[in-house]
Amino acid sequence: MASTQPVVSIAGLNKWFGEFHVLRDIDLNVGAGERIVICGPSGSGKSTLIRCINALEDFQEGQITVDGIELGPRLSRVDDVRREVGMVFQSFNLFPHLTVLENCTLAPIWVRHMSKKDAEASAMKYLERVRIPEKAGSYPGQLSGGQQQRVAIARALTMKPKVMLFDEPTSALDPEMVKEVLDTMVDLADEGMTMLVVTHEMGFARQVADRIVFMDAGQIIEVNKPQAFFDAPQHERTKLFLGQIL
Ligand code: ADP
Ligand code: MG
Repeated sequence: MASTQPVVSIAGLNKWFGEFHVLRDIDLNVGAGERIVICGPSGSGKSTLIRCINALEDFQEGQITVDGIELGPRLSRVDDVRREVGMVFQSFNLFPHLTVLENCTLAPIWVRHMSKKDAEASAMKYLERVRIPEKAGSYPGQLSGGQQQRVAIARALTMKPKVMLFDEPTSALDPEMVKEVLDTMVDLADEGMTMLVVTHEMGFARQVADRIVFMDAGQIIEVNKPQAFFDAPQHERTKLFLGQIL
């Protein structure tokens, strides 16, 4: 893996919201097939960081490279980067007036210029992968939260992204639906998808993460393999955080 280019490379990233310095000197490389879990207290900048990778936020200093495409502070090549990145949000963000299948074919047809027939065949494949093909003709409002989130994952996959970003994908779900979504994400990890996941699901982190990134106050405080992270956290702030959530 050392010889291959990172899929995501973040170097010297700094971002301000007005006067507020929200991301401070962030450096992070994510290798092909690597699974990174990002955790940290509320307001520490986790969402802002992964939104920068998808060019949903601008930034003032540094460089982000996704699959060789450079995204500098002027956010050139936004569309190129977004084509390579799949994103799943806390609130599923499906289009309510479109069926599940239509939600999953919209971008392949309009962005990838696939034919409707090919896009539908491909979307059905991804709906089968998230184990929900029978809901293809339903509307999002007719689905449970867990089902909607699995559709959101399938929808992102239809674009064949190089990396998948998840921002607290299970935190808006009723407890009984968390597992089905985490299981889907575990499947994705097993298939070798490169993933950056913001989550407080520490069982998932232990099981799936290659490395865990702990953020506080806009900085990366600690990066470690799960076992070391949980069993021997290096920094006081990490210990405090783990003490609160475990
Ligand atoms: P996290 O995801 O770790 O909870 P966020 O990245 O959402 O943290 O937010 C980090 C900080 O930036 C918080 O203090 C938040 O209030 C602030 N923030 C987030 N979005 C904006 C915005 N659009 N304008 C100003 N401040 C923001
Ligand atoms: Mg957040």
